[in-house]
Amino acid sequence: MTSPRNNTKSAIWKKTRVPSGESRLFIKRKKVNAAHCAGCGKELGGVPSGRPYEMRKLSKTEKRPERIYGGVLCGNCVKEKIKGEVRKV
Ligand SMILES: [Zn+2]
Repeated sequence: MTSPRNNTKSAIWKKTRVPSGESRLFIKRKKVNAAHCAGCGKELGGVPSGRPYEMRKLSKTEKRPERIYGGVLCGNCVKEKIKGEVRKV
């Protein structure tokens, strides 16, 4: 029987043959989807994706670019947004 922490949908069980010749079940975690821009839907650069225990190890500045809307909008969308705001005035 599996341990309760491994009895989840985020676990992928893989049968692998070990050197002794028998096959055993190994657990593999699902990959996390990459972050996408809220404006155009393009994949964001400089934003790593990982399971929470991997993301916890990163510092705040390693998790998103240090600019306005960093980690939410891509560079092009920020550029267009700033242009729009400036032209309103
Ligand atoms: Zn965008």
